[in-house]
Amino acid sequence: MPRDRFGREIDYLRISVIDHCNLRCVYCMPLRGLTFIPSPELLTAEEIETVARAALSVGFRKFRLTGGEPTLRPDIVEIVARTAALPGVADVAMTTNAILLPRLAKPLAAAGLRRINIHVDTLHPERLRKIMRFGTLEEIVAGIAAAEAAGLLPIKINCVVTRDYNDMDVVDLARRALEHDWHVRFIELMPLGGGETAHLALAQFVPSRETRMRIEEELGPLLPVPNAHPSDESRNFRFAEGRGVVGFISPVSEPYCGACNRMRLTADGKFHLCLLNDDELDVRRALRGGGGVAEVAGILLKAVGAKPTGHRLDEGISTEDRSMFQLGG
Ligand code: SAM
Repeated sequence: MPRDRFGREIDYLRISVIDHCNLRCVYCMPLRGLTFIPSPELLTAEEIETVARAALSVGFRKFRLTGGEPTLRPDIVEIVARTAALPGVADVAMTTNAILLPRLAKPLAAAGLRRINIHVDTLHPERLRKIMRFGTLEEIVAGIAAAEAAGLLPIKINCVVTRDYNDMDVVDLARRALEHDWHVRFIELMPLGGGETAHLALAQFVPSRETRMRIEEELGPLLPVPNAHPSDESRNFRFAEGRGVVGFISPVSEPYCGACNRMRLTADGKFHLCLLNDDELDVRRALRGGGGVAEVAGILLKAVGAKPTGHRLDEGISTEDRSMFQLGG
């Protein structure tokens, strides 16, 4: 397994397969002024497979497909199938808003997808409309049901907590974790992308400890669950009674960069050294210039070697890049 210069074992690659999304979450994508990567510049399914092979050849084991919205790629099932079939793969997961899962959950599971993280900020229909702007609660609920029916378990829910938009709904989501055996993770808002989204994130930030207090006041004490892996970005808890797990991901108030084991690949084929950092190494140029697995593996090792210590969001430093479309988790 490759180690970076700070001794972190880097074995997890997030692959953004597209930068388009069918939602416009207030803290992620503005309604206007967006430019997307033209299709010919997106890595093809075959190129993504080459990158995955290269990553495996240097010790990576886990992949997460993300976006934008990964299910908008017409060839997403093929991408999963190609990646999951590679020797040495320990895990292929996906982060999605679930809207297209009624059609895709079964084929994705059949293609080798193991786990899915579903992004839903609230189960209150009008507030969902306000925060995610497109899409409906009904569509997302149908997507969650489809993921359950396809055996993509446990259902993991990502909720980005945003003051005055959905912070009043965190107890309701935590209660669903209890009732349905879901793993609900509350994510601190990060100021990504600059402009209006970053400003909103700075103004509407809610620290995890406040979310946790709110949940405990209503539903009782949360008991810590040991993390399965030291690089797990979520601090996990259970209730004394009931099922499900509640987790808190706190990139701003408690940065976990010291245990970070991930790199990311943008939809147009650049390795980014950190989820929140703009430095990048161009893989697409290598692939389209005739480079194969070995050359990509060399670039990846170079990227691992250059991975920064941390993102400095806790110092109030925002990102002024397009990384908002590359988040995953
Ligand atoms: N479209 C997919 C989705 O909605 O999950 C995958 C891409 S989305 C950018 C990945 C994750 O990033 C989402 O689960 C969302 O919770 C999170 N996210 C987006 N913007 C964020 C922000 N400003 N702060 C914290 N999390 C954010």
